Formats: sequence, C-alpha cells, structure tokens
Amino acid sequence: MKLPRRQILVGAALGLAGAALPLVRPKGANAAGTKAAGTNANSLVESLQVCTPKDALTRLREGNARFAKAWTAARGGGSPEQRMQGLNTIWDNNCQIDPVALAQGQRPFAAILSCADARVDPSWLFACGSGELFQVRSAGNTAFDEAIASLEYAVAVLGTPLVVTLGHSACGAVEAAMASTPLTPLLEGLVKPIRASLKSGDNLTQAIEGNARYSAAQLTARSAVLKQAVSAEKLTIRSAYFDIGSGLVTLL
Ligand SMILES: [Zn+2]
Repeated sequence: MKLPRRQILVGAALGLAGAALPLVRPKGANAAGTKAAGTNANSLVESLQVCTPKDALTRLREGNARFAKAWTAARGGGSPEQRMQGLNTIWDNNCQIDPVALAQGQRPFAAILSCADARVDPSWLFACGSGELFQVRSAGNTAFDEAIASLEYAVAVLGTPLVVTLGHSACGAVEAAMASTPLTPLLEGLVKPIRASLKSGDNLTQAIEGNARYSAAQLTARSAVLKQAVSAEKLTIRSAYFDIGSGLVTLL
C-alpha cells in the first residue's frame, strides 16, 4: 500500500493553548515533534513544535521547487488543459488533508510574512494546503505591529518553528516607497518602514531584498518573544525573494 507523504494526527494537546490540535507532518520532517499515525495522543503533549526549524525550511524549499517546476512548464505555452494538468501536480499532497483534524485546531509548520500582491500567495508558491502555513500579508511585507503580534502567536502558542519574510519581484509597495509620487496619509504610513530599509543606489530588486531583510530583522528587534525563541533555537527567521517569472523563491 502506498503510504501517504503527509499525515495529520488528531489529539495533540498544546500546553500553552490547552486545546486539542492536529499535527501536520511536512515532507522531510523527522521525529522531532512528529509521530506516526496511531501514536498515543498523550505522548504528543510534550511536543510544542511540528518539526525542527531545519525540517520546516526543507519542506518549504521542496514545495517551492515543485511549484517552480510546474510554473515553468506552464510558461511553455500549450493549451489551457495542458497548463491545468501541469499546475495540478502542485496539489497532490493536499488531497490528504483531514478536514476533521483541521476543525480541531492548527499546527502550521511555517509562518510567512508576505506582500498582499495577488500573485504572491504563499500556499500556492510553497505547494502547501490548508493548515500548513500561518500567513500575515500586507502590501510591502512590512513588520507592522499587528504582524509581529500575529507571529508571536504563531510561535509562542502554535509552536511554529520557522518565519519567512517574503519579498517579491516587481513589488508595487517598494516601488511606491522609492518614488516621490504623493501618497495618501495611510499609504505614507505603509511605506515608511520600507523607506527606512532603502539604501542609496539600490535598484528595485536590491530594494525589495533589502526590505525583506529589514522586516526579518525587525521581528527580533521589536519582539522579545521572537528573540527568545530564536535564542532557544526553537525558531529560525529567514528572509526570501520570490521571482514571479520563474516561480523560484530564493533565500537571502
Ligand atoms: Zn508587493
């Protein structure tokens, strides 16, 4: 019998939340925080992490490689049906998601702080399904207060071991931050942290990458919870760049 590549286990109790939660085992995850199907639920109580930060990063990279392969193939033309068949391969894991388990809680293996750009859907470009990624999104993927607070919840309560701040090619928010075009007061507030990340002489790509790095640095600079989790090696924070044309995410 073909074994599923991912299993969702119900019944893990998380000490901080006190609620029964499912575990989603990312491909490549080892026994650090994951158990085989049928494991006594009580044995999962002590585990606050879905997997190690390293395993979570591996899972993201594998998912993006699968996405980029299908994305590149779709760029090659062909009929809508051919593109559909190619892009459908991204979702082969997601048919194994158990809605009953997800109704009981969440254990996302990674949190993504990404732009609100319609082309930058983290679940899509990391080939993930419901329950796998904790997502915080706003134009320019800036580390605004509510974003940091949301990530504190993901890390401290849900045990998420990896946070990625994700910039992307042709980011309109970064372009707006680099331009002198008048903005509304609210938009001025939105681009303020992006402008703080800009370096003299940056081109757009460099500015986007710099902004993603800056957002990542802000997380530990402004959150004692996240800083402590990193110090304890419970959390890894990385910045990354998504190239819309190729579909590839590059870690910075
Ligand atoms: Zn953007």
